[in-house]
Amino acid sequence: MRSMRWWRRGILVLLSSGLLGPAFAAPGAAPAPLPVVAAESTYGVIAQAIGGPLVTVDSIIRNPNVDPHSFEATPAVARKVAQARIVLLNGVGYDDWMQKMLAANPAARRDVIVAAALLPSRLQADRNPHVFYDPQVALAVAERLAALLRADRPDAVAQIDANLARFKADLAQVTAAQAALAKAHPQLAVTATEPVVGYLLRQLGWRSLGHSLQFAVMNDSEPSPAAVAQFEDNLRQHKVALLFYNRQVTDPLTDRLRAIATKAGVPVVGVDEFVPPDTSYPQWQLQTLDAIRQALAGARAR
Ligand SMILES: [Zn+2]
Repeated sequence: MRSMRWWRRGILVLLSSGLLGPAFAAPGAAPAPLPVVAAESTYGVIAQAIGGPLVTVDSIIRNPNVDPHSFEATPAVARKVAQARIVLLNGVGYDDWMQKMLAANPAARRDVIVAAALLPSRLQADRNPHVFYDPQVALAVAERLAALLRADRPDAVAQIDANLARFKADLAQVTAAQAALAKAHPQLAVTATEPVVGYLLRQLGWRSLGHSLQFAVMNDSEPSPAAVAQFEDNLRQHKVALLFYNRQVTDPLTDRLRAIATKAGVPVVGVDEFVPPDTSYPQWQLQTLDAIRQALAGARAR
């Protein structure tokens, strides 16, 4: 029994020195992390940035090779949603599957954050669902989440506020980079294979041509021959400074348009529907802005 007593004393030393994690914590210690489920990894990384160790975040769609517009949820997703305390989703028809999951798995204690509903005034007139390219929407999501976490964890308010302050400071870099790009290239006409960066283009004050084709690609429907012809003409006649190519929503038409742009010497910028792995939301936005800047610099050099 001597060795057992030694073992127990060891545990006590570890507990008092704080070397053991929450699994060994004494009564009255910090509660378990809050389970958070995000429909897309973009909202998942924002939740992680604000919640830190106070939350466990599960992002349902995070594979950059998935077309989010045709995603179908599985029973495993339903189980995660049923256990979540906070659920984040985009709204505006972008992730109706999550709305259905929430309806099918009612829970007494669950808060739902719908990004597009937080700032309805930011929504474009065409109801473009990709609101996550607007840093103000990202900030609204972060602030709403911070408010929920503060209510749940009054003991950790300082930590939550510090995380939110850091996120705001990072977002300020994004808006500064946007302003610099808009100043260097005022009022450009550009186009895109799908309207994923519509909100970014609005921030930049740039005009996006080929609207009906972009929405047809998004909705997996057939654009009119006239729309396709006009789109190709815009590329061949250099009526647009850039082609934004959505790498996550592709089909033979978008591939052909990219090839036409490349042949015509119109720079192509690859963009994504959600934040790539191991990247924060502000980093993702800064990387996208940098890719645009470089594409325009290369076009100028030619
Ligand atoms: Zn899309």
